Amino acid sequence: MEPHILRRPRTAGWIEVVCGSMFSGKTEELIRRMKRARIARQRVEIFKPALDTRFSDDEVVSHDERSVRSTPVASASQILLLAMDAEVVGIDEAQFFENDLVDVCKELALVGKRVIVAGLDQDYLGNPFEPLPQVMAIAEFVTKLHAICVVCGAPANHSQRLVAGSEQVLLGATDSYEPRCRDCFDVNLSAGLDTSDDTDSTAQSTS
Ligand SMILES: [Zn+2]
Repeated sequence: MEPHILRRPRTAGWIEVVCGSMFSGKTEELIRRMKRARIARQRVEIFKPALDTRFSDDEVVSHDERSVRSTPVASASQILLLAMDAEVVGIDEAQFFENDLVDVCKELALVGKRVIVAGLDQDYLGNPFEPLPQVMAIAEFVTKLHAICVVCGAPANHSQRLVAGSEQVLLGATDSYEPRCRDCFDVNLSAGLDTSDDTDSTAQSTS
């Protein structure tokens, strides 16, 4: 794990991405890496989009409630202003930022910071969820995590939406979504379309 730490460069920084579906432990992994850096007495700062107010205004909170304090920001460009004292910059819920997050990550790495970006790589329809795919492309290291499919127990790559709605931004995780594998993922159910003709998948979804 994290072999790059073994030969840590002194001048240039780099970008790490931790991605996956909902319930895959992305925030938990971000916090684990940040805590390790803090143990090494590195200066760490975590940022998250201000709109992610699910649990707390000043903490990154994963669903298992292990948390690290963080700073809510209105836009990715604010991170550039606030992160200059940090050696390690964590960015959580990256899917809620605009595409300028890509340039912000590049800039932070260029000035020597280790940048760790966590977020959803797909939306509830199974489409790439910008800007994270762009950040993955420019990152040195990408870790893709998986949840476990609630239907069949296979590694889950998709966030299945269980309630109707068309907005791409997903908030309020636990009640409205569940992790599913590619076979069990039902895009029509996620889209809120009538799935009454598709008795197989609806029967599976309630089992
Ligand atoms: Zn499955």
